[in-house]
Amino acid sequence: MRIVLIGPRGSGKTTVGTLLAEALDYGFIDTDQVVEEMAGITIPAIFADRGESAFRDAETEAIRTLPPDGVVVATGGGAVLRSENVQALRTGSLTVFLDAEVPVLVARIAGSNRPPLTGLSPADEMAAVRTARLPLYRGAADLCIDTGLLPPEEAVRRIVAFIGERQSPAFSREFVAFLEQTEMERHEWQTVRECLLRPEGMPLHGLYAVIGNPCLHSRSPELFTALFAASGVDGVYTRIEWPDLDTIMAQVRTAGVKGLSVTIPFKSDCMQYCDEITADARAIGAVNTVVRCGDHVVGTNTDWIGIRQPLLDTASGNAVVFGAGGAARAAVYALQDLGMAVTVLNRTEERASGIARHFGCGSGTPDAYDPEGTDVIVNATPVGMEGRGGSILSACDLRAHQTVFDLVYTPPDTHLLREARQAGCRCIPGTEMFVYQAQEQMRLFTGIAVDAARIREILR
Ligand code: NAP
Repeated sequence: MRIVLIGPRGSGKTTVGTLLAEALDYGFIDTDQVVEEMAGITIPAIFADRGESAFRDAETEAIRTLPPDGVVVATGGGAVLRSENVQALRTGSLTVFLDAEVPVLVARIAGSNRPPLTGLSPADEMAAVRTARLPLYRGAADLCIDTGLLPPEEAVRRIVAFIGERQSPAFSREFVAFLEQTEMERHEWQTVRECLLRPEGMPLHGLYAVIGNPCLHSRSPELFTALFAASGVDGVYTRIEWPDLDTIMAQVRTAGVKGLSVTIPFKSDCMQYCDEITADARAIGAVNTVVRCGDHVVGTNTDWIGIRQPLLDTASGNAVVFGAGGAARAAVYALQDLGMAVTVLNRTEERASGIARHFGCGSGTPDAYDPEGTDVIVNATPVGMEGRGGSILSACDLRAHQTVFDLVYTPPDTHLLREARQAGCRCIPGTEMFVYQAQEQMRLFTGIAVDAARIREILR
């Protein structure tokens, strides 16, 4: 095994790494040192003579050539910025994120000869850089330690204890017993059971799951299992269909589950189990992604990214959202982020006006829809779903200049999309929302970016 330490400058990667290597009788490699040896000049000189991108290229090369086994590796603070680095670093490694509060980090690096990355003061630069990189550090890490609160020897002790726990199959037994009571296809259950109780212990990169009631239909286990295999992530992604969120979250904490996809009916209630809620999730009022970093549980929302991404090249204008549930809230947030003027139309007007008050947008009932004044239509109702059929609008309500995004994804081609295609509209199926929200989840779960095309291929 290889142990990789990631985190901002001043988080103690060299100090903890040296002590950890001694404790495990491993070698110690600092990728910054490898870069300097390869270049024959110091890092400040590389920045001055060749620029930051030349340094990043050299760092990627240093990471590519690391030994696969028997070493502790300390990485540069920006190593996680390139997905290829994260993928290479995680393969066959236990990754530990060392962190500390900004004033501690700034004090520790005072007097360093490293060039600044921005024109900001050292404290402001550290705060900005750390905030931007935090989701990547958290996603890429199997274990997170605040070295501001601990002496380096204690950080080492925790890492060694964590390795011991992971290597014991007993660690997963209670979780396996819980999963046994939940709804799951037999073949899927057997694969998960075998993986969790393997003789060498828990998969290195831990457990992930979709939670919901129901969630037997979810394609997330199939998708993430394929993405993990393609990205060298040694993790298990399963499903937990269970009626009681309290029990799910207690099990998830005990088993040290790394990441959750959250679906109906838990997207709002799940927020109370998180230690931190991102600003996007708070504004939308729902969490569909949970990432654990050490004892810290972060709730976030990628649904809105799944709606914004396919609309990125749509010129801003007037958008109408049909429906006033959870998906509609994510849609309004995404459309406003793209600079559109939004109106929510819902059969129950009070729900539409509730959203309008929260987001500062327009509202009404569906009969207020004006085709000439609408550029983008988002269907956030279940109308058109398999078994229900129907369409929120008919052909005469659609115009060729419009973009129509139907969030319904079973079936992928709905009655609304067929009518919109005939009217000459640009059409976006609900599967695209699933693709992009999952792409962002993968990044948050592992620190690794995957192509949307790869996700489409797996889901085909
Ligand atoms: P929700 O919270 O239950 O809200 C459903 C909304 O649709 C409510 O405002 C409801 O109106 C309205 N509605 C229901 N039946 C209707 C009908 N027959 N005619 C007109 N309006 C109707 O559901 P949600 O979580 O927001 O999800 C909405 C849809 O989005 C889902 O059905 C799903 O197809 C889609 N979705 C897709 C993805 C994806 O990845 N593509 C992700 C999430 C959701 P009232 O307020 O009057 O009850």
